[in-house]
Amino acid sequence: MKEKKNEGPMGNARPIHERLEMHSEVDSNTGCRIWKGRVDKNGYPVLKINGERVCVRPVAFEVAYGDRFHSNMVGRPQVRMSCGVKTCINPAHMTVRTDEDRLFLEIRQEVYLNGRTRAEANPRFAFMTTPKFVDAEARRQLEIRLAREAPLTPEVHAILDQIRR
Ligand SMILES: [Zn+2]
Repeated sequence: MKEKKNEGPMGNARPIHERLEMHSEVDSNTGCRIWKGRVDKNGYPVLKINGERVCVRPVAFEVAYGDRFHSNMVGRPQVRMSCGVKTCINPAHMTVRTDEDRLFLEIRQEVYLNGRTRAEANPRFAFMTTPKFVDAEARRQLEIRLAREAPLTPEVHAILDQIRR
């Protein structure tokens, strides 16, 4: 096996968790682990693994919890930072989009059941059970709940824009 400086048989000599620690610093006030390494053109943390540039957050999440974040609804789930800090890679500050998907489905179900009750009482409210109405109303309520949880960051706006589509 060829020996390369800084590289082991798997391509990288240092375990990932060491690289994450090496390139970041904890802000003791906020608990944020601030990435000091490279960022992409939007300012988000990236690093090279086996020659491939990857986003740091999913990696940090996987290192911390032993599992990738995943979603039943989307192929590439996104992470929302509860702290709203662009360069933070603290897994404890990450909310996986999956959680929001789940919340959305819960709200959607509530909205539908409420609409059905109204429609049964008065046919005038039949529109409240249509998928179009239910989706729009559920999205509206989801936004309100998320806004209550934390101030909306540009990332949350991006997520909401995607849900809206
Ligand atoms: Zn943070």
